[in-house]
Amino acid sequence: MSSLAELTIVEAGKKMAAGEITAVDLAHACLENVEKKNKELNAYIEVFADVLEQAQKADERRKAGENHPLLGIPLAIKDNILIEGRVASAASKMLEHYVATYDATVIKKLREAGAVFVGRTNMDEFAMGGSTEHSAFGPAKNPHDPTRVPGGSSGGSIAAVAAHMALGALGTDTGGSVREPASFCGVVGMKPTYGAVSRSGLMAMGSSLDQAGPVAKTVEDTQLIYDAIKGIDPLDSTSIADGFYPAGIRNKKVGVPRALLAQGVDPDVKERFETSLEKLKAQGYEIVDIEIPSASLALACYYIIMPAEASTNLARYDGIRYGLSRKGATLAEDYAESRAEGFGPEVRRRIMLGTYVLSAGYYDAYYGKATAAREVLRREFAEALKGVEVITTPTAPAPAPKIGEKADPLSMYLLDIFTVTANLTGNPAISVPMGMVKRESAELPVGFQLTAAHGDEQALFEVGKALQ
Ligand code: GLN
Repeated sequence: MSSLAELTIVEAGKKMAAGEITAVDLAHACLENVEKKNKELNAYIEVFADVLEQAQKADERRKAGENHPLLGIPLAIKDNILIEGRVASAASKMLEHYVATYDATVIKKLREAGAVFVGRTNMDEFAMGGSTEHSAFGPAKNPHDPTRVPGGSSGGSIAAVAAHMALGALGTDTGGSVREPASFCGVVGMKPTYGAVSRSGLMAMGSSLDQAGPVAKTVEDTQLIYDAIKGIDPLDSTSIADGFYPAGIRNKKVGVPRALLAQGVDPDVKERFETSLEKLKAQGYEIVDIEIPSASLALACYYIIMPAEASTNLARYDGIRYGLSRKGATLAEDYAESRAEGFGPEVRRRIMLGTYVLSAGYYDAYYGKATAAREVLRREFAEALKGVEVITTPTAPAPAPKIGEKADPLSMYLLDIFTVTANLTGNPAISVPMGMVKRESAELPVGFQLTAAHGDEQALFEVGKALQ
């Protein structure tokens, strides 16, 4: 018999409601897989000691009459999301021993729903990366081929779901960190509309780009997690209520920015993409070519705005207020030594880049221009989404690379070409599996990305289900 951990959240919920299985059974099934696979995959940095107790509590709540769809469901949580009383390290030496003093709003909501937290998952340090190789605790690996990366930065969360070590997960997405690994590991991952989910208790990377996002095996499951975490929050002034944006249109049109796809997409990934479009067509969707003239600027724009915001956000790790602390001869030396030891190379690179583009004399040339281009992009997307329900591209131009293959940072950044746009414009976007491609002897998943109008997550779920 296959493991209970292979159930979808919907299936597991039904079985628990029918009394066929318990949350404790589910937790056991996930922990068994952790035992078998986590050593190799390095998806969890820490598996919590009280998983079975949490599950038992969920079972008691069910007995007492509760029946939230996530009650008793084992979830994996990215290590940059605060859970009160537990370490939250963002996979950085800087915060290796930092214990969170409060729950992130998303955690509070999941706790109320009765979810079981299996552990905190591996990631690129402070969410900077697209492979989960930049972790202070060693790289995570792709369950489909452990010589390859799971993608990043939420690689641990995604690998945990793909390898059935949890039924769902939370990641964070600043430039594609939920969607890109979902594509590489064959699961569903979503970035909500900016503001739809509270950022309170998330470690900030790029505050105008960051959103926590759900990961699961199916679109239905992803939707369940999203429904549980969304909503306005007094602790995040950028959060918005349901219905904040006007309703998106429903005309069964799917837009394809053909000009953008002409750039560097692997031929077999392109083929899977075309097959998926055919699948949508067969279900009554009309595929239309659209133009987003500035889309090719998105990557350059992102790699200016993101480091600018990250360098500012990470200024708080000064060796005095949080985390790792080293003493030099002067206060300036305290800062320098703590930060040099606490941060890994990719984080340092981005702090330097960000500081540079924000410095007097360069601000107008880089940050100012990128901000202006971002506004143009936002308008072009809004314009395009007046004529179609969703805009589609492959999630990434290629399947998961080998560990170490993208050692040159620029080649790594290029993987983000299709994902960063939704973060810049604030639109919601989802990655749904669109089949496999072959590299050497491995069959590797690739993902289909859908982007919808602000506030129209519903379109992502509807079209996503049609595709699945
Ligand atoms: N890969 C992107 C980057 O390196 C996205 C990161 C993210 O979404 N957190 O910045």
